[in-house]
Parts: sequence; C-alpha cells; structure tokens
Amino acid sequence: MTPMAKQKNDDLMDKLVSLCKRRGYIFPSSEIYGGLTSCWDYGPLGSELKRNIKNFWWDAMTNRRDDIEGLDASILMHPKVWETSGHVSGFNDPMVDCKTCKARFRADKLEESRCPNKPSKSPLECGGELTEARQFNLMFRTHMGPVEDSSSIIYLRPETAQGVYVNFLNVKNSSRQKIPFGIAQIGKAFRNEITPGNFIFRTREFEQMEMQFFVHPDTDEEWFETWREERWKYYQALGINEEKLRWHEHGPDELAHYAKKAYDIEYEFPFGWQELEGVHNRTDFDLGRHMEASKKDLRYFDERFTDKFIPYVIETAAGVDRQLLMVLCDAYDEMEIKGEKRVFLRISPRVAPIKAAVFPLVKKEGMPEYAQKVYQDLKKKFKVFYDESGAVGRRYARMDEAGCPFCVTVDGQTLEDDTMTLRDRDSMDQTRMTVAEVTAFLEQKISG
Ligand code: ATP
Repeated sequence: MTPMAKQKNDDLMDKLVSLCKRRGYIFPSSEIYGGLTSCWDYGPLGSELKRNIKNFWWDAMTNRRDDIEGLDASILMHPKVWETSGHVSGFNDPMVDCKTCKARFRADKLEESRCPNKPSKSPLECGGELTEARQFNLMFRTHMGPVEDSSSIIYLRPETAQGVYVNFLNVKNSSRQKIPFGIAQIGKAFRNEITPGNFIFRTREFEQMEMQFFVHPDTDEEWFETWREERWKYYQALGINEEKLRWHEHGPDELAHYAKKAYDIEYEFPFGWQELEGVHNRTDFDLGRHMEASKKDLRYFDERFTDKFIPYVIETAAGVDRQLLMVLCDAYDEMEIKGEKRVFLRISPRVAPIKAAVFPLVKKEGMPEYAQKVYQDLKKKFKVFYDESGAVGRRYARMDEAGCPFCVTVDGQTLEDDTMTLRDRDSMDQTRMTVAEVTAFLEQKISG
C-alpha cells in the first residue's frame, strides 16, 4: 500500500469510528470511566444492525433450510470440554515482549501491530528489542461457586462450536434429523487476545455465528465445497462488493490442530485483507475426542449404512462484529452535491437498522397528521422513523448518514391523491406511490 493510500484508509477508519459514535452505532465501553481496551457497546442503530445481521444469518442457515437445527448453549461449560477439545493445552498464540517499551505483541502479527511509543511504526521497525516468542493461552479463566481453588476453575468459552459437539446426541435425537444435517448457533465468545484492535475487528469479547454440518466421512470433501459456495452466495445476498472479497486457503503451518482443510473468506478492510469467516473441515476430531473422554457413544447409524461411524464436521465460523464492521466499511460513501459534502451509508435494506423514514414536507396544512398516519401504518411491519424537524434536505442527509435506504415524504399532492414520494438513498430518485405500494415495495426490498 502506498503511503497516500494508507493515509486515506486510516482517515476512512477515523471517519467511520466518529460516525459510529455520533449516530449511535458504536460507543467505547464504560466511556465515562475512560473506556476499556477493546470493548465496545452497540448503540440504538448499532444494536438494530447487529440484530438484523444475526437474523439474516439465522434465516439463511435455519429458516430457509430443512437440514439445520438451531441451538443456544450456555457460555460456561464443564472444564473437561476444554481439556478434551485441546483448548487448555493448545489454544495459544505466540507472544513476544518488547524489552524497550515493555509492550506485548502477537509474534505472528508483528507487521500489523503498532509500537505504543511510535504509533506510525510496527514493532519490527521501531528499533525496540523483542524477546523470543512464547505461548500464551487465550482462554479467560474464572471460578464457579464461592470457593476459589483449582477445583473450581472454569473458562469463558473461546468458541461456540463445543456447545454443539456436546449436544450432538441431544439435537439428533430430539429433532430426528438424519445425516447430513447441521446445528447452527449464535453466541458470545471470549478470547484474551494479545493485541486486540482495529475498532471492533479484534476484540476480547465478541459474538460468533457458527454452523457445524455433520456428514458421512466419505462425503466430507463434497460438502466442504458445497459450504464454500453457500457462504459466498450469502455475502452476495448481503450486497457486499465482491471485488473486496476473496478466498484464502490455510497452508500447513496455519491449519488449526483439528482441521484437515480450511479456507477463510477475507474482506479488504481499510487496514488490509483480513479474515471474515472460516470454512473448516474439522473431521471427526471433536466428536472423537468427546466420545473418548465422556465414554458416551457419539457414533451415528441409520438403516442406509452398514457401519456405525463418527460423523465428519464441516464448519462455517463467522464473527458478528467483524461482519458488522464489513457492512459499515462497504457502505461508507461520500459525495459532493452543490458544494456540500454528503455522507452515505449504503447499507442493504435487508439489514439496515431503519428501513424507512416518514416526513411531512412542511409542518402545516395537515401534512404532519397525514404523515403520522403513514408512519403508524408502516410501523406495524417495519422499523421506521418519523421526523418533522428542520428543512427536508437536512432530514434526508441525516437519514443518509444513518444508512436508512428510503424516505417517504408527504406533500401537498398527497392530500389530493393519496400518493407520496419515496426517495431512494443511493440514486436519490423519487417515485410517487400510495401507502399500499410503499408497503409492498419495502417488503420486496427487505426480503429480497
Ligand atoms: P484470527 O486469525 O483473526 O484470530 P481465527 O482464525 O482464530 O481468527 P476462528 O477461530 O476461525 O478465528 O473464529 C471464527 C470467526 O470468529 C472469525 O472468522 C472471526 O470472524 C471471529 N473472531 C475470532 N476471533 C475474534 C476476535 N478476537 N474478535 C472478533 N471476532 C473474532
């Protein structure tokens, strides 16, 4: 990246962080006490966007399919789960210390890290002397119950997947699904990351949307490819610029201890190409280990097969917060109209926090009363927003910045023929429609 391109991208991140704060998307956590590193709170628009992204994923994974069931497992799990899964011994990142400034960095991400004393330089460039790398376990530990000794240690889950494996039998038996089938889950995960950063990209508390698909071992490669295709289509449906998406295959040195094959979907964030989601072939590693440790038979059998077998797992693992950051980065746009700068968030209507705003053109001649009726009508079906304060141009600009895809304006003509203008955020075109037509139009745009 040239220094100018880097500066432009740094500026974009600064603008995005400030827009998020100003418009109520994302605030620093515990801000009145100075904030807490890497922790963020989602405000009124942010929490709507987050919920919509989760619903979009949940809908794609469960409601639109017959072969995936949902699950919501607890965050705190039996400590044996994490011993068995290999996380207690192996969920580590290599860490180095700087002997000069005492800061700690992830040894495999030194180029992306910043020296605290010279923020324009990475720890490789700042001249500080680094120690040898040593392993640092990323799991948060705490104690369960009133006694704090080694027997009460438990962990905050670092991934949601283990909740699925330990419930494999429960879900299979209660849902009567037959292989191939999957289990989908959305929930918080916690990792004591050595170097969190880039706003909500890498945090210590985050949310995952994971799906484990259980297949016959002879069909794992086929299903791996199917899920790669499905996940790509998902981002197309979300309206993400495909030029900013790419696949990255894990080389032998990157593969996790459980994986036979893994691909990441990467997005070109302003700070570079980074992992958005992983598609992993986790083989029978997890179920096999849990079967051995728990002494419960987790093998699968039905009349179509001659033998019992431990299913292979194809996993799709996405982060909610990273997806939300991608949606915001992809949506951010600026343009100049009549010498005035306009900021737009071109968020897809499918996940936009507010679907439409309703305005009376002016605050008189019965327009507010009519617009209120339209608002109350649309509110029954969609998240809409009513605004009658200030010039209509300013109201449009506020909604553009909030990522609201449509504005419905009640004007003089509405009172005569019951049509109102529907303004499209991206093209700024205006079309006259009745309220019934607006409803049908919004329904179509939101469901795709
Ligand atoms: P990375 O290499 O970025 O640390 P990972 O390969 O360890 O990620 P996975 O264990 O595959 O990530 O987790 C699945 C998804 O969960 C990631 O693709 C990402 O979207 C999300 N995720 C993982 N760690 C974090 C984090 N610290 N903050 C936010 N999201 C995360």
